[in-house]
Amino acid sequence: MESTDPSLDHLGFEEVVRLLDAEGIRRAHAVPLFRWLQTGRRLNFEAPLERWLAARPGVCTEATRVSETPSADGETRKFLLRLADGQEVESVLMGFKGRHTACLSTQVGCAMGCVFCATGQMGFRRHLKVGEIIAQARFLETWLRENHDDRLRNIVMMGMGEPLHNFEATMQALELLTDTRGLGIGAPRVTISTVGHVPGIRKLARHPKRYSLAVSLHGATDEEREPLVPINRRWPLVELMDACREFSEIRNQRVFIAWTLIAGVNDDVAQARRLAELLKGMDVHVNLIPLNPTDGYAPQAPGAGEVLAFQRVLQDAGLPSTIRQRKGIDVGAGCGQLATRSGAL
Ligand code: SAH
Ligand code: SF4
Repeated sequence: MESTDPSLDHLGFEEVVRLLDAEGIRRAHAVPLFRWLQTGRRLNFEAPLERWLAARPGVCTEATRVSETPSADGETRKFLLRLADGQEVESVLMGFKGRHTACLSTQVGCAMGCVFCATGQMGFRRHLKVGEIIAQARFLETWLRENHDDRLRNIVMMGMGEPLHNFEATMQALELLTDTRGLGIGAPRVTISTVGHVPGIRKLARHPKRYSLAVSLHGATDEEREPLVPINRRWPLVELMDACREFSEIRNQRVFIAWTLIAGVNDDVAQARRLAELLKGMDVHVNLIPLNPTDGYAPQAPGAGEVLAFQRVLQDAGLPSTIRQRKGIDVGAGCGQLATRSGAL
């Protein structure tokens, strides 16, 4: 399949230049071609480039809109996109004018099996290719341009899948998304969210670009975390926290910690104290996310009082935290609710 794939949107700028060279097209055409492949914006196309493209269908990786669902407040819009092999992924657009954020998927399904997550409940289908990650961003950028005359400013790799399990494709895609000749998203405005893939975090710590890192914790001891996040057996908390410390120290960069709050499971103040203890001395910011409902998991989100009590413990320990707004819940586009209809069995 790879050998017959005509797409070019996974190519870096220099590769586009070399391709045009090899095809006898002046390299000046590389700038508009690369911009179009990455952003969907067709500017300064001249006749030789038009002719060359006309003979080459399929240069943009397929990601066709199957459905589009706005949230009631109009601030979140979930798109279901169909890929060339018929698999579907979800991509979400969030936020207000001037600071729109794209939430992108990196896999169809996920192998990590977190029990409260709709994508985890689907199981793993396959990794996304670089072009399939780019196609999601290009789709959302085009939608924003056409509907709001605006552009993407932030990207979070928090859609379906575990980005560090698909490390190479994710990093190549981010290289393209941060290229100023394309979308040009600033590296710190890109957040890679991981369940705690330790080798991936260590590699990221040594990466030249300053992407933001979010680590999904949900439990402060192995006993409490493992039933929620089964992959904790492979990378237990000591190793995970060690990798996080290494990331912060090498880069002098704050790490975001995600904690999905589940009533009666991980929302009591004793857990909050253990979390504060675990994070002592680290440069972190904790995002508290009240559980979003999924079909395959019965427990509920805690009430506002419990959430605030949990946050107060962190605050007293000197840990900065935010309670994440529950955006897009009504359309199933909240964190961990992303599963395609065919996947949500
Ligand atoms: N695989 C990566 C990124 C995708 S999940 C990761 O796990 O970090 C994005 C975020 O949504 C994670 O922090 C995850 O823990 C959270 N999440 C998953 N299911 C959720 C649910 N049902 N309610 C609230 N947050 C959820
Ligand atoms: Fe995968 Fe993240 Fe969902 Fe866990 S929370 S199953 S790692 S997508």
